[in-house]
Amino acid sequence: MTGSIYQKINLIRQKIPDNVKLIAITKQVGIEPMREAYAAGIRDFGENRFQEALSKQQQLQELADINWHFIGHIQKNKAKKIIENFAWIHSVDSLVIAQRLNRLAEELNRKPQVLLQVKILPDPSKYGWCATDLLQDLEQLNQYQYLNIQGLMTILPLGLSSVETLNAFQETQNLAKKIRQKKYSNLTMEQLSMGMSGDYLLAIEAGATMIRLGRIIFGERSI
Ligand SMILES: *Cc1c(COP(=O)(O)O)cnc(C)c1O
Repeated sequence: MTGSIYQKINLIRQKIPDNVKLIAITKQVGIEPMREAYAAGIRDFGENRFQEALSKQQQLQELADINWHFIGHIQKNKAKKIIENFAWIHSVDSLVIAQRLNRLAEELNRKPQVLLQVKILPDPSKYGWCATDLLQDLEQLNQYQYLNIQGLMTILPLGLSSVETLNAFQETQNLAKKIRQKKYSNLTMEQLSMGMSGDYLLAIEAGATMIRLGRIIFGERSI
């Protein structure tokens, strides 16, 4: 797509409902393009590497109303800093990490908003729960009172057709519904973070409440 970041964001906005949160994914994106996205009204930014994110947060300190989203795999030794520096954590991908975050959140007296990362289709290259394992872990997750468990996040494997993509997003929605029906007090499951540059319209069709867009706003990444 050609055009300025401002134009790209406005074109995307025209295609998505107002209640879908557009998160600009800025991994490997510099500060100036991020400022442009902010000027176009973006207030949600997502990063997958802690160090890179922290450096950008420092450089953009004066933009105090940004909500920062962490979308990468959480290394044990970064968990505390991630709680301190991000409003949302989309990538809670195992019971071990959930337990650690809960303990650290208690120590810090915080209650971070988190999403549980699910692999709705098998994908050896990705982290996350498969649906069966997640259902087994719910009882335990519900005990983690210092985590605000708001929903699910998913990333689909590469190379799916549109039909397969839509089906996979709908399955994620169904899984969230199934969890809601169990009425766990601490698992609200109202947010579905799904959809990237190539598939966000299908994700919205299946009920995404948050979409995570990088390339379609900022162009191709170098690696
Ligand atoms: C990079 C990334 C995105 C954005 O992907 P694009 O294809 O650039 O839109 C979304 N979610 C996660 C978890 C990512 O790592």
